[in-house]
Amino acid sequence: MDLGLKNKTAFVAASSEGLGLSVALALASEGAQVIICARNMEGLQEAKQQIDGLGPKQCSAFVCDLSNIASLRSTCQAVLKEFKKIDILVTNTGGPPSGSFEDFDLLDFQKAYDQLFASALFLIQQFLPGMKKQGFGRVISITSIAAKQPVKGLILSNSIRSGIAGLMKSLANEYGKYQITFNNVMPGYTKTKRLAQLIDTNPDFLEKTKDIPLKRFAEPEEFAAVVTFLASEKASYLTGSSLAIDGGCTQTIF
Ligand code: NAD
Repeated sequence: MDLGLKNKTAFVAASSEGLGLSVALALASEGAQVIICARNMEGLQEAKQQIDGLGPKQCSAFVCDLSNIASLRSTCQAVLKEFKKIDILVTNTGGPPSGSFEDFDLLDFQKAYDQLFASALFLIQQFLPGMKKQGFGRVISITSIAAKQPVKGLILSNSIRSGIAGLMKSLANEYGKYQITFNNVMPGYTKTKRLAQLIDTNPDFLEKTKDIPLKRFAEPEEFAAVVTFLASEKASYLTGSSLAIDGGCTQTIF
C-alpha cells in the first residue's frame, strides 16, 4: 500500500529516542521528510544518523526544550523558516514523574501541564495555519492509556493526558472542514528506555504482561506503524479518535 507520504513533511516532537524516534524512523522509511527535536544535540545526532540511513531525504534536527515556551517558539520559527509548512505533526514529550495525589503540590501540576499539554497546544497553534492554507493536515498526539483509564501511581499523567484527548477531539470538530485530521494515540507498555528502567528497578514489573491479552509488551515499531498509518493519506476519513495501542489491556468496550 502506498501511504502517500513521499511528498510530506513531518515534525515529530521528543524524538531522539523512544516512541518519538520509532515514529520518525517509520515515517522516514515511507519517504517522508522528517524533522526531529529533543533537548540534547548529541542524542539528536545519533537519531539523525539512523533516520538518514533509511529514506531518500536528510532528516533535520532541532534542539528544543518542550517544557519551555521560549524554546518552543524559537524552534517553530526556525522550522517554518526552513520548511514553510508542516503536513504532519506528532506531539510527544517525556513522561511526568510518578506519584500519588499528596506527593505533588500545585506547582508540580503546573509543571506537568506545561510539559504535556502546553507543548502540544503550542505546536498545534504554530503549524495549524499552514495546514489550513493547504487544506491538508495530520495531527497525532502521543499520550498514554492513562488518558482512558487511570494508572495507579500516575496522578499527573492521569489528570492531564485526558485533557489532550479532549483538545484533539474538539479540534477534529473545528478543523475537519479543512481536511485536517486530529487523532490521539495511547501507548500501553512499550519497550523503550523508560520501560527498561522501570523493569530494572522493579523486576516484578514484568508480571504486568499477565494482564495484557497479548501477554507481552509492545515493540516501539508496532506503535509507530499505527501512527504512520494515521499520518498517511490513506487515513483521510479517520479523525477525532483516541486509539489505545496497548495489546488489549485497557478494559473499556469503546
Ligand atoms: P523516552 O523516555 O524513551 O523518550 C522520551 C523522549 O522525549 C526522548 O527523546 C527525550 O529526549 C525527549 N524529551 C523528554 N523531555 C523533553 C523535553 N522537555 N523537551 C524535549 N524533548 C524531551 O519515553 P517514551 O517511552 O518514548 O515515551 C514517550 C511518551 O509516551 C512519554 O510521555 C511517556 O510517558 C508516554 N508513554 C510511554 C509508554 C511506554 O511504555 N513507553 C506508555 C505510555 C505512555
